[in-house]
Amino acid sequence: MKHTQLYIGGTWRDASDGGQFAVINPMDESHLADVSSATVTDALAAMDAADAAFKDWRSRSPRARGEILRRAFDLFTQRLEDFARLITLENGKARLDAVGEATYAAEFFRWYAEEAVRSEGHMGVAPASGARTLVYQKPAGIAVLVTPWNYPAAMATRKIAPALAAGCPVVVKPASETPLTMLALMPLLEEAGVPPGVVNVLPSRSSGAVVGAMLADPRARVVSFTGSTQVGRKLLHAAADTVIKPAMELGGNAPFIVFEDADIDAAADGLMVAKMRNLGEACTAANRIYVHAAVEAEFVEKYTARMAALKMGDGLDPSVDVGPLVNAETRDKVAAFVDDALQRGAQLKLGGECPKGPGFYYPPTVLTNVPDEAECLKDEIFGPVAALQNFTDEDEIIVRANQTEYGLVAYVYTGDMQRGLRVSEQLEFGMVGLNRGLVSDPAAPFGGVKQSGLGREGGKEGMLEFMETQYISTNW
Ligand code: NAP
Ligand code: MG
Repeated sequence: MKHTQLYIGGTWRDASDGGQFAVINPMDESHLADVSSATVTDALAAMDAADAAFKDWRSRSPRARGEILRRAFDLFTQRLEDFARLITLENGKARLDAVGEATYAAEFFRWYAEEAVRSEGHMGVAPASGARTLVYQKPAGIAVLVTPWNYPAAMATRKIAPALAAGCPVVVKPASETPLTMLALMPLLEEAGVPPGVVNVLPSRSSGAVVGAMLADPRARVVSFTGSTQVGRKLLHAAADTVIKPAMELGGNAPFIVFEDADIDAAADGLMVAKMRNLGEACTAANRIYVHAAVEAEFVEKYTARMAALKMGDGLDPSVDVGPLVNAETRDKVAAFVDDALQRGAQLKLGGECPKGPGFYYPPTVLTNVPDEAECLKDEIFGPVAALQNFTDEDEIIVRANQTEYGLVAYVYTGDMQRGLRVSEQLEFGMVGLNRGLVSDPAAPFGGVKQSGLGREGGKEGMLEFMETQYISTNW
């Protein structure tokens, strides 16, 4: 599955200047592959290929597009283990997380195979003139997709599948840490029947220039980005110049609230998922954990025991729960968050010591009494560190939970559903996990408010990001 060249118009090619960059295995820091690094010339070639493919793709029947997507789901499911292995090799996540991602990634093809045929419009009568208005959705045009390294497959299929269902061709710029998974997907899409030029992939170390050139091209009509808020802002500025439709899935700083009436075992299990899924390298990861003072001691004991039971090691080993972080920079940032919290007076219950390596490992870590000023409460930890605080009052904790510029997801555990819904409604987050540590679902609209983003992925909503409304006014 080792493709390392650019994929443009259904063919593999080197970068126009022959440039390459290295992809590293985070488990042992060994060299995995040299991958072609797209240039601005390549980016414009990909736009040409997408443009050439657009007319045919948009005019295929929704059912025909849906059936290709369905075949992509079947093929992905057959090759799940191969994809999981490649994800582990380039990202480091443990096998179970990689299988989880591959399953989730495949599911977007199935969901949008089913949604492709449900493009609905409506008809009305204009109040003054009596003219008939026919309202429907059309494919928006070429979509530029930019994805992060934390889910090398799923963050891309969550964009590719709805774009294709809508009738749009795409150019994907995968993260430089993890381009191999996206390249490996291309032969599968070919086999499923995706025509040349409908999906193009441009790994590149010059992401700013390459994505910038595509957004300056008037043929680009959508930019769908998943990544940091910092880069998202840059792309929003670039999209403003050509008035391109933006979809932004940005950072998060999720609160995880455990009320005194919660099932403590269920809450501890839920936090294992919300914190440790993908080793904490998720925008949805619980980042600020608030436990009611009356149940804090019990919760800390139960949660710490669960964290202590995790086995860290080579992600390909099926008995391992916790692989390495993606790179040295991410590992060092996590270590710095822990050191900062400890210096400010937090208590260390577990972990906190960075192994020597090789590999970018950091152990499951539990901190309690983390002071408000700690950096790890303000910024995304993006690692296996649980930062706990306590609280006593419902109104107070809602205010604290909302005190962030982010608004992606919040988690609430309580035995009282009335309270759960009351609190959930007051949380300024695009998604709430109520007595659940996992919200991601291809059938539901994933996305954030405030500086966590614009637009939604998954569900019915995800396809609308790649469509424009048109209405025809007529009389008969
Ligand atoms: P990142 O640095 O923002 O990079 C994301 C993507 O943008 C990569 O493909 C990157 O390419 C590219 N990029 C970087 N600078 C760019 C520029 N100036 N112009 C155009 N493209 C540019 O994020 P990351 O470090 O990969 O991922 C972690 C972040 O993603 C976290 O903040 C996390 O919360 C967020 N995230 C959000 C969601 C969500 O759905 N809300 C999901 C997953 C992750 P290079 O790799 O070549 O730099
Ligand atoms: Mg980056």
